[in-house]
Amino acid sequence: MTWEERWHPLREEWVIIAAHRQDRPWNGFTVEHERINFPDYIADCYLCPGNERISGKQNKFYSSTFVFDNDHPCVGPQAPQELQTPKGIYRNQSATGIARVVCYSPLHNFTLAQLGICEIEQLFRVWQQQYVELGKREEIQHVLIFENKGEVVGVSNPHPHCQIYATNFIFKTIETEARVSQEHLEQTGRILFQEILEAEHNDGRRIIVENETAIGFVPYFARYAYEVYVSPKKTHASIAGMNPEELRGLAEALKIVLVKFGNLWKMPFPYVMTLHQAPTDGQKHEGFHFHIEIHPPLRRPNLLKYLAGPEIGGGNFLSDTAPEEKAQELRSQSCIHYKQVEKD
Ligand SMILES: [Zn+2]
Ligand SMILES: [Zn+2]
Repeated sequence: MTWEERWHPLREEWVIIAAHRQDRPWNGFTVEHERINFPDYIADCYLCPGNERISGKQNKFYSSTFVFDNDHPCVGPQAPQELQTPKGIYRNQSATGIARVVCYSPLHNFTLAQLGICEIEQLFRVWQQQYVELGKREEIQHVLIFENKGEVVGVSNPHPHCQIYATNFIFKTIETEARVSQEHLEQTGRILFQEILEAEHNDGRRIIVENETAIGFVPYFARYAYEVYVSPKKTHASIAGMNPEELRGLAEALKIVLVKFGNLWKMPFPYVMTLHQAPTDGQKHEGFHFHIEIHPPLRRPNLLKYLAGPEIGGGNFLSDTAPEEKAQELRSQSCIHYKQVEKD
């Protein structure tokens, strides 16, 4: 039984681990899963090759990845520039920035877990280009690249894709990580994330996958049951600094983690996946170690982790599961995707 509080060094907050509560009865809402098998092309999908989007623009007949400006941007150059100044202590600014969509594959019914290593490497190169291109712009302080996957995180279109929000401010989590990483470097001469990797190595129980250049693990301080970090072993402020060999290692590690997720319950595994990269605000960020964070919202096949009093009201997470146990479940899964097995 794990019942304790663990310090999250990147977010500077406590996580309550109360694993003895995980089997308490639940009579509430459960998540239904769509078991429909989609075809690889759908005529009214706004992401499939050659289709017309709601803006009237037509998608390219793309064969690997495809990047376009979001037709419904939350930040964009069209946002109003002349704003009314609010009274008192309130502040506002123009929602300028750039929002983009990246399709991973022309195949509608594929997922990132099912892509080949070369295809994932190609996607990484697109992420590198986007980070550099958007980050170079004067007004862009940070480039947030993320994938929302599954209906429980609000995605109605299963076509495999991620989004990019290049903003004129730095997202809160990244701002905190950048600050604590910098402070740690100044105070100890060491990279904070390297110390996390060292601690994970020394323990070993939470490591899901490891190769020459990359690693995937459930962190000691995980807030979600199946939370996994995937990162290069060498410190880079962003994915842009990684060489081809490192990209390959990262692609292999990420694929194995996602395949294991799928195999866990033999169903599409919902998650929010975010690249944590240094801000592009002109500072050096030498202590920042690029990593991918994956936050799956389910703690059982049809049971959501609800954010409630502690998380929304108090701002700290309460986890009902022990990271060591969840890591063990993932470790024991096959590295071959269940859909691949069904096909063979
Ligand atoms: Zn599609
Ligand atoms: Zn992070």
